[in-house]
Amino acid sequence: MKIICIGRNYREHAEEMGNAIPDEPLFFLKPDSSIIKNNKPFFLPDFSDEIHYEAEIVVRICKLGKSIDEKFAYRYYDAVTLGIDITARDLQRRQSERGDPWEICKSFDGSAPLGKFLLVSELGNVHDLPFRLEKNGEVVQQSSTAHLIFGIDRLISYVSRFFTLKTGDLIFTGTPSGVGPLQKNDHLKGYIANQPVIDFYIR
Ligand code: ZN
Repeated sequence: MKIICIGRNYREHAEEMGNAIPDEPLFFLKPDSSIIKNNKPFFLPDFSDEIHYEAEIVVRICKLGKSIDEKFAYRYYDAVTLGIDITARDLQRRQSERGDPWEICKSFDGSAPLGKFLLVSELGNVHDLPFRLEKNGEVVQQSSTAHLIFGIDRLISYVSRFFTLKTGDLIFTGTPSGVGPLQKNDHLKGYIANQPVIDFYIR
């Protein structure tokens, strides 16, 4: 399986990072070794002094597809959850300055903690899905998929022009504003609507 992550997909986050609003979706990949499941802890790596959380709605692909038309995209995903796109911000800054690839700052082991999946059929409208992240009991990120610059169906259509999507593939849809640093023993808890889906510690 593969994990496709969209960058700069909320206006306020692009602005907080000093980036322009993209005219096409921007994406990168994470390997399956980046996944953490079942609320297991994330261990701070030794190669970065600035590890950040980015809470994102994650879409699960349920059907093989290539060059999917946006109007049929809804048939290709069946579940969503909240995932954390863990980022080594110091390395990302260095890589970006040099024009080098992002894998070492975005795709390392454990950089994709995933929550419990909720079925689209039980959620109702996934295009206006509120979500939030709490760090140590305080809300640090809060938005809705209604605020995505490129919505879920558009992302599936765009990404599938380049990659065949397969059952089990995941799309991280981008983070809203409020990203920030993680320290040892921080506690992250994420919700979709008012349902807790992810709850884990930084070690
Ligand atoms: Zn992200």
